[in-house]
Amino acid sequence: SDAPKIRRVALMGSRAVGKSSMVVRYVHDVFNDSYFPTIEETFTKQLTFHGQVYEVEIIDTAGQDEFSIFNGRHALDVHGYVLVYSVTSKQSFDMVTIIRDKILNFTGTDWAPIVLVGNKTDLQGQRQVSREEGDELASKWKCLSCETSAKKNSNIGRAFELMLAEMEKSTDAVPED
Ligand code: GDP
Repeated sequence: SDAPKIRRVALMGSRAVGKSSMVVRYVHDVFNDSYFPTIEETFTKQLTFHGQVYEVEIIDTAGQDEFSIFNGRHALDVHGYVLVYSVTSKQSFDMVTIIRDKILNFTGTDWAPIVLVGNKTDLQGQRQVSREEGDELASKWKCLSCETSAKKNSNIGRAFELMLAEMEKSTDAVPED
């Protein structure tokens, strides 16, 4: 059978939106209520998608704010980006636009393989960003999106499958393995 295709994905977004929780839920199927800020860590998971075996490397970044210098390694070395906000934080929703602008600026393109993810849907009473606002932003960006809960394990696998779909749409733009 075919060798696995290697696909590298960077998880970006404000601090504490649940980036680490999403990847740990996805790779190890556990959730921790405590908060341990990440420096940077890479996780690997094999999966079959549309009959093709993929080895997905997920770079869990430290998190960004409007002042962080864009890490060029993330722009050049990855096939796609998962941009995460928390549905409980308008500020984190505003931040994904700033991060996307930095990505496009760095890559010199007007489109990048991005999946927009609104996490923490289990905290319904604390919502600051509606599903419609997320959908609207994703359609403006012409990218796929979904809402997740790392805590309740809702849509986490789907978020990464959407990422593979988005990357396969853009294989021309994909760096060599
Ligand atoms: P990161 O800085 O973006 O990697 O965020 P973390 O994954 O470390 O999560 C930050 C905090 O939010 C931690 O206390 C997590 O337990 C919590 N958290 C992450 N995902 C969820 C979620 O889906 N629902 C709820 N209720 N809490 C979450």
